[in-house]
Amino acid sequence: MIDKQEKLIDKKGIRLDGRKADELRPLKLEVGVLPNADGSAYIEHGKNKILVGVFGPREMHPKHLSRPDRMVLRCRYHMAPFSVQERKSPAPSRREVELSKVIREALEPALFLEMYPRTGIDIFVEILQADGGTRCASITAAALALADSGIPMRDLVVACAAGKVDDTVVLDLYDAEDKLGVADVPVAYMPNLNAVTLLQMDGILTHAEFEKAVNMAIDGCKKIYALQKEALKTKYMHIKEETQEEVEE
Ligand code: ADP
Repeated sequence: MIDKQEKLIDKKGIRLDGRKADELRPLKLEVGVLPNADGSAYIEHGKNKILVGVFGPREMHPKHLSRPDRMVLRCRYHMAPFSVQERKSPAPSRREVELSKVIREALEPALFLEMYPRTGIDIFVEILQADGGTRCASITAAALALADSGIPMRDLVVACAAGKVDDTVVLDLYDAEDKLGVADVPVAYMPNLNAVTLLQMDGILTHAEFEKAVNMAIDGCKKIYALQKEALKTKYMHIKEETQEEVEE
């Protein structure tokens, strides 16, 4: 447990987990991990471990929720009871309802919703382990799962937070920095379109600090975007190799 009095950044500018101010946590991205889903992805972002399954576009259930002019995107963000140190109640919390909405709204601009009237897509986000920044990691993984489902997209969406810890603006806060730090600014971004699809702020920053945090988060997003593309390529190169082997046999 980190004491509230303890400094989160040392004199050399190194954070408690050994990172520099503008350094991301280690990332691992994988696509196509759930054969029963139309699209799926798994992300490890620092100690966060998150699984996403995408189902659809398919007929809406219940039908009265369908829209005659567009597809309906539904998202459920759910934390497993064992995902945090103190057992989380399995009942949906206010926070989970909010994050489901925030994640859906960050992804919607990437999709051509009007091309699929009367249908729906369901995105299920399961947080297996949480350590701060799960909304961002969920968006990054959900965009990959959508791409894996084969639905046309304007761009991938990628998300990362920046914030202020002690007196310093830092990238990609983990749980202790989120809780004991000064501010947290999660950003979701479509790099090819240079468009921000989510911008939140928890805490207080000056104008200059806010601008620095947003730019830092966008730079972080661009780095994660390269890993997203790599994860997609890895899956499809693998399929290509398997198909080639079958043809040769
Ligand atoms: P985000 O995960 O997007 O940063 P929050 O800022 O709401 O979202 O949460 C920060 C972190 O707090 C989570 O990533 C998780 O590690 C922790 N947390 C969230 N809900 C709970 C809970 N019910 N019990 C214990 N820790 C929690």
